[in-house]
Amino acid sequence: MKEGSARKVIYRKDYKAYPWEVNQLDLYFEIGSETTIVRAEMEFLLKEVDSAPQDIVLNGSNLELVSMTLNDRALSAADYVIEDETLTIPDVSQNCVLKTEVRIHPGSNSALEGLYLSGEFLLTQCEAQGFRKITWFPDRPDVMTTYRVTLEADQSAFPVLLSNGNQVGSGESADGRHWVCWEDPFPKPSYLFALVAGQLALVEDHFITRSGRDVALRIYVEAENIDRCEHAMESLINSMRWDENRFDLEYDLDIYHIVATNDFNMGAMENKSLNIFNSIYVLARPDTATDADYQGIEGVIGHEYFHNWTGNRVTCQDWFQLTLKEGLTVFRDEEFSADMQSRAVKRIRVVRGLRSRQFPEDDGPMAHPIRPDHYAEINNFYTATVYQKGATIIRMYHTLLGETGFQKGMKLYFERHDGQAVTCDDFLAAMADANNINLDRFGRWYSQSGTPQVHVSDHYDAGAQKYRLTLRQHTPATHDQKDKQPLVLPFALGLLTASGDEMPLQLEGEAEAVTGTRLLVMQEEQEEFIFVGVSEDPVPSLFRDYSAPVKILFDYSPEQLATLIAYDSDAYVRWDAAQRMAVNAILEQCTRHAQGTEMRLDASLLKAFRGILSDHQADPALLAEAMTLPDEAYLADQMDVVDVDGIHTAREFIKKALARELEVFFAERYTGLNDGQSYQKTAEAMARRSLKNICMSYLLETDAGESLAVAQLESSDNMTDTLAALQGLILTGSPRAEKALSEFEGKWQSDALVMDKWFVMQAVKPGKDTVNTVRKLMDHPAFSIQNPNKVRALIGVFAMLNPTGFHAADGSGYAFHADRVIELDGLNPQIAARMASAFNRWKRYDEGRKELMKTELQRIASVPDLSGDVSEIVNNALR
Ligand SMILES: [Zn+2]
Repeated sequence: MKEGSARKVIYRKDYKAYPWEVNQLDLYFEIGSETTIVRAEMEFLLKEVDSAPQDIVLNGSNLELVSMTLNDRALSAADYVIEDETLTIPDVSQNCVLKTEVRIHPGSNSALEGLYLSGEFLLTQCEAQGFRKITWFPDRPDVMTTYRVTLEADQSAFPVLLSNGNQVGSGESADGRHWVCWEDPFPKPSYLFALVAGQLALVEDHFITRSGRDVALRIYVEAENIDRCEHAMESLINSMRWDENRFDLEYDLDIYHIVATNDFNMGAMENKSLNIFNSIYVLARPDTATDADYQGIEGVIGHEYFHNWTGNRVTCQDWFQLTLKEGLTVFRDEEFSADMQSRAVKRIRVVRGLRSRQFPEDDGPMAHPIRPDHYAEINNFYTATVYQKGATIIRMYHTLLGETGFQKGMKLYFERHDGQAVTCDDFLAAMADANNINLDRFGRWYSQSGTPQVHVSDHYDAGAQKYRLTLRQHTPATHDQKDKQPLVLPFALGLLTASGDEMPLQLEGEAEAVTGTRLLVMQEEQEEFIFVGVSEDPVPSLFRDYSAPVKILFDYSPEQLATLIAYDSDAYVRWDAAQRMAVNAILEQCTRHAQGTEMRLDASLLKAFRGILSDHQADPALLAEAMTLPDEAYLADQMDVVDVDGIHTAREFIKKALARELEVFFAERYTGLNDGQSYQKTAEAMARRSLKNICMSYLLETDAGESLAVAQLESSDNMTDTLAALQGLILTGSPRAEKALSEFEGKWQSDALVMDKWFVMQAVKPGKDTVNTVRKLMDHPAFSIQNPNKVRALIGVFAMLNPTGFHAADGSGYAFHADRVIELDGLNPQIAARMASAFNRWKRYDEGRKELMKTELQRIASVPDLSGDVSEIVNNALR
């Protein structure tokens, strides 16, 4: 199903309020997989009583209109104008009741927006603009109303019938059909509507809220997955308790549903009381899901639950404000995970994600502020910038105001706006007013795109015992914006002695010194901080806890980095110092490789790794993070012209050299952690597994590794250990890999989620031959181009996480991928657009690759009837 041709660009500044109030929406569905009939009845009330006649503008897409009446008068084609996705009834002068009946065809809806079929059941996805594929309605987030939904269907085919809110009635008729009626008392925008109908199994629990409301918790899955819901349920209960304790927010209905589907464009959707989840984020059993999957489930279950307040009770005025609900809710889920697991490890993973996914957006053709100023297709703006960078902006409010001040702001935000559709400016005003401070300059973070660079220089005056830090901020021009202004940057700082002790900090003019982290705030383009009473030339520990989303440019010596890695009290700084050291070492070898000089292992990196491996005090998960070498994409970002093969070769060289030099240390740690204990789900056990498996990945670079991996594979009782061993064998080209892969396939061939992992393991294998493997795997019975998870696992992973495969110099990876984008565009434009973005940064490569990628982009752009989604991405890239 196609979306039609390119859409026109919509601008934030053009926002106009909807002139009508919609007073209650009644929906009646005659459910069928082939054809579903939707009857809608809604009352329109003029917002201003004495208003001049107003148009009623509705949105609809691919709807077969059966009938439409206004105040019971049938409307004919002459009474309205249909243009693109809008239907306008002009000059309506009074309050009125509109009734419509349409036919839709969920069984042939491959775009997975609106109502569609997944396995044995029907479900909906309406955010952002899917409701218009269900019925005519003002499909915009600022039109909020209460919903009453009746679902009628064949009882044997569709025994479960769910919608938002509380069940208020049900019944059966003689012909084998039944109906259920749902009422949601909270007004909501159409993007939060949901229905589910079909054959599903149920796991049930309950949660009693602080004020005594007994909430039924129900997770619906396909019958074969019924034994994989325990962790999701536990995560849901933890989320509900956490939101009460930390944010003073309680659940507001008597029922909470989660439904898991294998066919979903996104991760999950926060529809009021009827969350719909990609099954990746629900289903887990120790033998089928990794520790990362378990953590992902906890985070996403939390995220969607937290939306009940930040998103549903208070929603967005228009889609430009998406970060109002997403940035804030990502911040909340990050804090939830930090409170549940290890705060330090969570923070490092968040920073890693920001650098690998969001920084490239700022540097590419789709650069936009967290609150964009324009879009052609809103689906293309569900980005790392809106979500992850948006969350860092919320974190900066929290850093500046402290937990108490931040919660005061949240409280005022809900007092002012509960039940409303509002803007990012409203959120900022609530934070500012509750704390009686001016945040106007801070507001620039909403309108400015790009990653700020902070150049730090220092000077130590031994005679005067003074230390001067000079910070200069500069945001490079982005694709969408030339001129940039200075931003407000919370700057958390510590100073260490050469032997790693924390120094007392006293700014010039202050009465006394304070020990520990100092929070300063930078507002201007350049600022200077002078510390007095500084007894030796210090090692600066900059932007502790990553206090602002910037690139920190400071010329650390190897000795300074070594001090930070060994002693800093801040986990982020320790990790970042180790990353810097590794980046320097790898890029240096990349240069040597290009010059034809022999590569070598840097002595300071070797020493640092030895220190990390000998640290038996620190959290094993932090040590694992510190020894994870920066990935090839991040390394590529540090170069002016990306040397695809050089980066790969240099990184492999460093890894192998470290493994060889430190084999004894890796082996000792591995043996100590590989204690034969049976699987446990605790954070501590996960941390131990992460360190054990990173040690194994190094040992696999030595002669000893293969037999260790084979033994681990044979004795493993959990997917984390299994996958680490198997992936290791594949990546090192072990002759054992093939047999292990086919045994894995034999065991899991009918398990959709586990087979995704099987595809991923093969798609990431470096080298130009992988494109042929991927092509062959597309014919595997477990693969389907119609299923977004499969597309992401095989095609997405190849294009985004396999640089030497995708960027093969002969262009074979590009041609293959462009073919897939074109094929997908005819099925699912949203997913096709995501895939097309793999070409976004084509200008950063050498002339040969540039030309090849440009040719593929042009080939995609010239496809007749290309969707608006893909058209926006490729035309931006070509511009
Ligand atoms: Zn969300």
